[in-house]
Amino acid sequence: MGKLNNKLISIPIENLPATSSTTIKRLKSVGIITVWNLLNYFPFRYENYLVISPIAKVQSGETVSIKGKIIKVFNLTSKKGLKIQKLTLADESGKIDAVWYNQPYLLRILRIGSYVALAGEIKGFFNKISFEPKEYELLEKLNSPTVHTGRLVPIYPEKNGLSSRLLREKIFYLINHLGSRWDQDGIAEIFPAEIVKYNNLFGELNAYQSIHFPQNQVDAKKARERLAFDELFTIQLSAALIRKEWDKEQVKKSFKLEPSFKISLQNFSQNLPFQLTNAQNRSVKEIIGDLVKSRPMNRFLEGDVGSGKTVVAAIACYFSYLNGYQSLFMAPTEILASQHYQTLKETFTKLNLKIGLQTGSKKIIRKHKQKLEKLIKSIDYDIIVGTHALIDKKLQFDRIGLVIIDEQHRFGVVQRAKLKEKGLNPHLLTMTATPIPRTVALTLYGELDLSIIDEMPKGRTPIKTYLVPQDKRESGYVWIKKKIKEEKIQVFIICPLIEESEIETMKSIKAATKEYERLKKEIFNEYKLELLHGKIKSNDKDLIMKNFKEKKIDILVATPVVEVGIDIPNATIMLIEAAERFGLAQLHQLRGRVGRGKKQSYCILYTGSKDDVVIERLKFFAKTQSGMEVAEYDLKIRGPGEIYGVRQHGVVDLKVASLSDYQLIDKSKKAVNYFLANHRLDSFFEIKRRIKEYNIKQITRD
Ligand code: ADP
Ligand code: MG
Repeated sequence: MGKLNNKLISIPIENLPATSSTTIKRLKSVGIITVWNLLNYFPFRYENYLVISPIAKVQSGETVSIKGKIIKVFNLTSKKGLKIQKLTLADESGKIDAVWYNQPYLLRILRIGSYVALAGEIKGFFNKISFEPKEYELLEKLNSPTVHTGRLVPIYPEKNGLSSRLLREKIFYLINHLGSRWDQDGIAEIFPAEIVKYNNLFGELNAYQSIHFPQNQVDAKKARERLAFDELFTIQLSAALIRKEWDKEQVKKSFKLEPSFKISLQNFSQNLPFQLTNAQNRSVKEIIGDLVKSRPMNRFLEGDVGSGKTVVAAIACYFSYLNGYQSLFMAPTEILASQHYQTLKETFTKLNLKIGLQTGSKKIIRKHKQKLEKLIKSIDYDIIVGTHALIDKKLQFDRIGLVIIDEQHRFGVVQRAKLKEKGLNPHLLTMTATPIPRTVALTLYGELDLSIIDEMPKGRTPIKTYLVPQDKRESGYVWIKKKIKEEKIQVFIICPLIEESEIETMKSIKAATKEYERLKKEIFNEYKLELLHGKIKSNDKDLIMKNFKEKKIDILVATPVVEVGIDIPNATIMLIEAAERFGLAQLHQLRGRVGRGKKQSYCILYTGSKDDVVIERLKFFAKTQSGMEVAEYDLKIRGPGEIYGVRQHGVVDLKVASLSDYQLIDKSKKAVNYFLANHRLDSFFEIKRRIKEYNIKQITRD
């Protein structure tokens, strides 16, 4: 393509011919930096303008394309001042009037004598047909190729001032000027031929052509399938490669399961105030099984909110201690870190373990007040609890055998590299309460071993969830007041989710503050309210949580930051504002903040939405207790991107693939295994490039 004579992947978008600087700016603002990025901006549907009809044959109710010569144009103004553009189009069979409203510029483009194609739905009755075209395009000759009419016309997401029409034009140009070699300016096959053949896939070039400008619906589907296959293949191959590397690793500290340790572990379990569930026992067994291997553990412990992951992790820490090693226990926030610290201290009261808390304020809370450095260097602690930033701290790492990471999906490549820099290659246990269906976890996190706690401790009363429309808001408040008065319970009120970005964070804090003031003044003036959000200083935050735990606060008004891990058994009501803005998985996490004690707990969803789909989704949530069911429902209804969202520690952004397409996941996984067994990755540079790109995305996400 002349000017574009370069590797497609790296051709800057500025090289697009006949493109204004405004358009370039807009393209860049949606992340289209190269020509390749533009080719990867996919339509989300197609308008069917395949039928090209002679003008005399068009019928009311038909969606068609017509072509002809413009024989008349009118510019009219209606009585109400509406500007009407009208033209008459003729072909050999007859003529038709087409009309537009308030688009006067059109008549500068569509002039008498020009050839034009129009597309849209024909309306009206019998000889009173009316036609308001959705698309038009000028043609050099009657049989010139068309872009916006006479085909399945791709509809692109319109963002930041980019119209679907403009994107279509630019992409059409690219598709028609592609070469056929990756190393030059084209798209070529990325897989060995037999993978394409065996899986009955479209070729790579065909896939790109057909996702944008398919001949028919079947081709559009095949194109999508091929590109989805590519995505799933990349993710799974990447995981397989990480796993292969991991398999070569050796732990520096090797764990042993001596008979005396076995007894200690048993005693420990028996002395817990409760009996472990089968799922907890199974997970413990899987973890211990990993810990005694020379390959470092890389395990993912997934379990619903309140399923009791902490105690499982604590047992792993205890085993580490028995072997003479320290454990790092990391949580995403300081609140959670100090809560874990408390829990672990209670769990280990009868034993000799020394537990330290390291917070961002560089303090280790302990009875004696020595200097930080000295304390940490003393490697005094058997378990060090802190935030995820712990690994950046100047800890003395040489006694660490186990690292626990709470409420994170995956320990990032970057963090792991940091540990290795410190000469450490410990066992890793990552935990999350985000319900990720097993198939999804196995696809996205194929490099991890998976333990799922799929059972709740006995004796939990299910949380009652109610959906409350706007007009019942007041009675909701009345009911809450009564509950607080009569049962001395406590309440969370979660303010609406506003998207996560620095500006938006400030906005959501502002909104929460306002709501807090309103509630305090107008609704709950006889009660003790407190406000909690992400920008409150950590000392104050800790104090608020402490006061809430000690029942000095009745109602905690919070931004959705309280989402993960907080344990306040006396809080039995969770009120969520604008519930429709949350993914169900997130709602489930929020709901999990209550229902932790013996009393009946409630989750109240306030919504102003009247959208049927939204209401149905929330109603489904209200009658379902299981996080996994909720996640699977969400997976079907909304894309994975939306469920887990960015703020919900983004899982991965799949463009075409769906994580509920189990068949394609399975196919692509088999293809990965076949590929690894029969080919050398080095000879497939485009696959290699994609894996690298995917990994970089993962790293920047962490
Ligand atoms: P999560 O998996 O959400 O991190 P936690 O570990 O915080 O859950 O556990 C929630 C609560 O359940 C804690 O108060 C914990 O002591 C309790 N718990 C854990 N396991 C059991 C069990 N087997 N039986 C009864 N209660 C349990
Ligand atoms: Mg937890």
